[in-house]
Amino acid sequence: MANKSFIKSMSVDNAQKSHNCKHSSKHRINMGDIRLGLKVEQSTQYFCKACAIKFLENGSKDISKLLDELKEN
Ligand SMILES: [Zn+2]
Repeated sequence: MANKSFIKSMSVDNAQKSHNCKHSSKHRINMGDIRLGLKVEQSTQYFCKACAIKFLENGSKDISKLLDELKEN
């Protein structure tokens, strides 16, 4: 991995125009809504606030688990 922290590939901003959440086309992100951007190679995927919170909460649990595994060995 070239980037030492994958966290750096994520950022929060406000949508410049309305579009769908990457996770589900039923989730609409309206212009000006807060969203999470995830950079994947050259493109950025955007998630609505609800998905972003779930995504980050699950991610932080996974990170803690991996940290524990690494430190225990
Ligand atoms: Zn969503």
